[in-house]
Formats: sequence, structure tokens, C-alpha cells
Amino acid sequence: MKVDYLIVGQGLAGSLLSWQLLSRGKRVLVVDRDEEGTSSKVAAGLVTPIAGSRFNIPDGMERNLNFAKKFYWDLEESSGLTLFHHVRIARLFQNEKEVATWQKRIAESPERYKEFYEKLTIDSSQFHLPHGGFEMCQSGWLDLPAFLEQMRQILLERAAYAIGVVRPADIVTHENSVQWKNVEAGTIVFCQGWEGCQNEYFDWLPWNPARGDVLDIKMKNPSNESRIVNRGGWILPRGENVFRAGSTYDHDFANASPTETGKEEVLEKIARITGEEPEVISHRSAIRPSIRRSQIIMGRHPKHRSIAFFNGLGSKGVLNGPWHAHCLADHLLSNKPIPESADLQSNFV
Ligand SMILES: Cc1cc2nc3c(=O)[nH]c(=O)nc-3n(C[C@H](O)[C@H](O)[C@H](O)COP(=O)(O)OP(=O)(O)OC[C@H]3O[C@@H](n4cnc5c(N)ncnc54)[C@H](O)[C@@H]3O)c2cc1C
Repeated sequence: MKVDYLIVGQGLAGSLLSWQLLSRGKRVLVVDRDEEGTSSKVAAGLVTPIAGSRFNIPDGMERNLNFAKKFYWDLEESSGLTLFHHVRIARLFQNEKEVATWQKRIAESPERYKEFYEKLTIDSSQFHLPHGGFEMCQSGWLDLPAFLEQMRQILLERAAYAIGVVRPADIVTHENSVQWKNVEAGTIVFCQGWEGCQNEYFDWLPWNPARGDVLDIKMKNPSNESRIVNRGGWILPRGENVFRAGSTYDHDFANASPTETGKEEVLEKIARITGEEPEVISHRSAIRPSIRRSQIIMGRHPKHRSIAFFNGLGSKGVLNGPWHAHCLADHLLSNKPIPESADLQSNFV
């Protein structure tokens, strides 16, 4: 079998890249291990334009957000599915320091911030807001399992998907192609998530993966809150008083399995948002693929030009992934430069 691109992994990264390549007329084969508990299958899929307790709007955020929303909308239109949920975030301040940081940010760049927030009103008998907060706009969440399944169907219809494990040791590299079993590919692109840190072609990158826990919880008192509520941790309404809640960042993990400590940490975060003592329905965890300070990294291998890489989607893959996949496809097909911050060559070679 001959393809232009062999893609290893059908998480968010492999799905986005394979779509970009297919839509440019390339022959693609995506090989995935088809397992539960991957980062893309566990993630809440939140899109948060104003990030963290420093309330940054990172460079390029607006461009990435517009690109991502259009990409998910187009997919929804062609599939008839609802994949991206436009939900605002009630962002409650944790302390006075956060209040001061927020006020400084909006005073420094009022024009940039104004389209991303509004005044917050929220039921103070249900949520803790001793320091107030704001309502974040243009946020939401992607139903990642539904998205992955839809992408898998698209690949299957094009005979571009297979279940399997691609071991780097099984690849034979030639000058302008690679061979894996009976597949000859012009380029192999590793989109393996955190396991990329065990791949001998890319294990030298400054990997910084983080295990994270997510709970599904049921509130005891009825809540009609329809927004995501964030105060350090977050809760996301899923209907009928069930919320998804998270998350943790554990860089010192033994494996991807859920831990009691992780569960307790999420419960503590929930307690800072609401006085409710929820019933825990389920607990899942997975490992985020992070490189250095959560930086998307992509491009061809410095020595083996028919081996490439797309990884490091970190905790903002849903927002930043689509635009980067588009840029990587441009690079692979037409040698267009990769954006500096994500370029494997200029950052690490
Ligand atoms: C708890 C948690 C919460 C998160 N919350 C958010 C959030 O709210 N918003 C957000 O944007 N992001 C969030 N993320 C991060 C998000 O999950 C990632 O950015 C993104 O999903 C990573 O996608 P990926 O394709 O790089 O990796 P993965 O999802 O790990 O996919 C890699 C795929 O490659 C396959 N694979 C690996 N090795 C091989 C091999 N040798 N052969 C064949 N197949 C292989 C795996 O089976 C898997 O299917 C969260 C992550 C976690 C863990």
C-alpha cells in the first residue's frame, strides 16, 4: 500500500492533521491503537480565551480561536452533529491578588479585553464569590469523544484508518520515503500524544507531560447554572444536575491511572466553587502531552526528513490545534515556514 502520509495516532492532533492533508487531496493512512483513557478522550475540551490566574490573552489567541471555531462549525454543518458547545464561563476570583491582576490587565489593554468579558451575575447562595468575578465570553467546550468518532468515520469512509501500533523500531527510512510493514509512505507523522517522549526519534525534546484527573459529579441540590464555573478548578454542566469537574496537573506520575490524591484534589477545587458536597459518579485520568512550557511543537525530524512530528498540544489543544495543523500541512506540502514558536528546528536544533 502506498500513501503520501502515514499518521501515527488519532487523538486530537492526528485527527486535525489528517483532515488538513485529506482536504488537500493527499493519500493518508491514520494508524491508532484505539484505546480508552487517552488525553483526547478524557479531556473536558474547554476553550478558555483568558487563561489562568494571570488572565493572559496569549499572542495569536484571536487568530487561533477564529480558526478553531470555523473548523468545528464546518464539521458540524457537514455532519449534522453538535460538537462545539458555546458556553460562557463564570470566572470567580480566588483572592484579592487575582482581582488586582485582572483590573491591571483590563486597564492596560481595554480594547483587546473588551470582547472577551462582561459583568457577572451569579447565584451567591450557590457559589462562593467573596472577591467577585467576571463572565468570560467566546468560550465553550468541544465534545472530544464525539469529535474523534466523527473524524474516525470520515477516515473510514476514505479507507484511511487502521487499528494498530506503529513502533519506531519497525520503520525503515529511505531518502524520500519510509516503510512500515506493507505501507510505503512519503512521510510518517508521529501524533502520539505524551508517548512521543518514548519515541527514539523525538525523546530528546524537553517533555513535560502532566497527568490530570476529571470527575463526573452529581449535585444534591438542583442547580440551573448553564455556564462553566471556574475558581481555580472548574465545573461544567452536563444536564440533570450532573457536572464534569477538574482538573489536576501531576508531573510526577507512575502511570495514567486515576489516583485517590487526584480525586481529593478535584473535590477540594469543587469545594472552593460551591458549598455542595457532590456524589462522585465517575473518575478518569490521562496524561497531557506537554513540551517545555506547554508549547505546540511540529515539523520534520532534523536528520530524517521523511519523519515528522505534531505534538505538545498541552491543555489548550482544542483552541490552538486547528490553526497549527493547518500550518503544518502547509509546511509539509509546500515547505512554508512553521510559525517560530512551534518550529521544532528553530526551537531545538
Ligand atoms: C485531564 C485532562 C484535561 C484536559 N482538559 C483540556 C481542556 O479543557 N481543553 C483542551 O484544549 N485540552 C485539554 N486537555 C489536553 C488535550 O487532551 C490535549 O491537548 C489533546 O487532546 C492531545 O491530543 P493528542 O492527539 O496530541 O494526544 P492523545 O489524545 O494522547 O492521542 C494520541 C493517540 O495516539 C495513539 N498512539 C500512541 N502511540 C501509538 C503508537 N505507537 N501506535 C499507534 N497509536 C499510538 C494513542 O492511542 C492516542 O489515540 C486535557 C487533558 C487532560 C489529560
